[in-house]
Amino acid sequence: MIINFNNNNSVSFISHIQKLINFNFRIMPEKNTIMQISDNILEHAFKKIKSISIKAAVFNKIINTVFNSFCILSLLISFSACSPSSTNNVEPPASPAKSAVSDVSFNFDTKTVKLNSGYEMPVIGLGTYSLKDDICVNSVSAALKNGYRLIDTAYIYHNEESVGKGIRESGVPREEIFITTKLYMNQYADAENAINEALKKLDVDYIDLILLHHPGAHDIKAYKAMEKAVSEGKIRSIGLSNYYIDELEDFLPQITIMPALIQNEIHPYYQENEVIKYMLEKGIVMEAWYPLGGRGHTAELFNNETIAEIAKVHNRSSAQIILRWHLQKGVVAIPGSSNPEHIKENMNIFDFELTAEDMKKINSLDRNEKHDWY
Ligand code: NAD
Repeated sequence: MIINFNNNNSVSFISHIQKLINFNFRIMPEKNTIMQISDNILEHAFKKIKSISIKAAVFNKIINTVFNSFCILSLLISFSACSPSSTNNVEPPASPAKSAVSDVSFNFDTKTVKLNSGYEMPVIGLGTYSLKDDICVNSVSAALKNGYRLIDTAYIYHNEESVGKGIRESGVPREEIFITTKLYMNQYADAENAINEALKKLDVDYIDLILLHHPGAHDIKAYKAMEKAVSEGKIRSIGLSNYYIDELEDFLPQITIMPALIQNEIHPYYQENEVIKYMLEKGIVMEAWYPLGGRGHTAELFNNETIAEIAKVHNRSSAQIILRWHLQKGVVAIPGSSNPEHIKENMNIFDFELTAEDMKKINSLDRNEKHDWY
């Protein structure tokens, strides 16, 4: 179900939520445009609100301002309550997620990390968000020909067929390649079918890693379908995206297989150090989306004085410095690009090392500045 808010209300609503949860995302929809907020997003937003300490009076005041009426609020709350939440309507698991912690340190010789599922995963890959059709096919193929072995896609990128085609065109054997895809929230209610659809679109016999793209209704049910698909050999490893500590605390007791990986926004201006520490201690690998800051933000990061200076000293590009910083922090990076030169450049980060001082300087750039809201 989709609820539409007119521009003013939705922006105001989101910006209040943003302040509450201390996100720094920017949103500038055109005047008079209609934004769509899905029930999953609302549910997640309410969950975030509930998860921080906020007095009821303040909460009511904010909601009043946003919607101008308690009627709408009641409607939303009842709607939210009716919508099956991630914790509702699920059978208790046979056993809680395994707590055996695996070593998730990177092997810089093999350029891989061993997931808690036992499978090796490359620590650098190609992100394919926004790559479509032939551009996607050519970028995937170029990446694989330049030594990449990890490709990140998702149902919602509408390019799984092109990713599959790029893999076949590269000539690199399937078994050498690690494919990640993601189930989107509208697929959670029938995840078994969604997994089969992904296998078909990619045209492969198994998928190395499937993530739930966001927290949302039926996410436990979808995760359990992924657990079943692991036992059937359709998926090798499973994980999550855009889950933080609160969501994980809620999620883990309800599942059996510990997530192998969590993919979240991470870059020098939004470092998530607390989340990374929490995940690594649990033996969950962290992976960065927007590793270079994301489209529209890369220039700010590349021209950052500290990063540019370090790049000069190492005779590397700023992009290479940032990617190497991710790896030395123990975070897998999946920069997106359709430019063959950039694709090549982003892989050439294994023949130099950032010093402890370089790492410290980049660590100090954290501004808690998110470049997207989720
Ligand atoms: P990014 O941070 O990788 O930045 C991409 C931008 O950097 C592009 O404009 C690209 O042209 C430019 N770029 C790449 N290499 C460069 C280089 N060497 N020199 C100069 N410019 C360079 O952002 P992204 O691609 O949006 O994110 C990476 C991937 O993360 C996506 O492709 C997608 O696979 C994934 N992702 C996941 C989520 C999620 O919710 N799970 C959200 C966003 C993105």
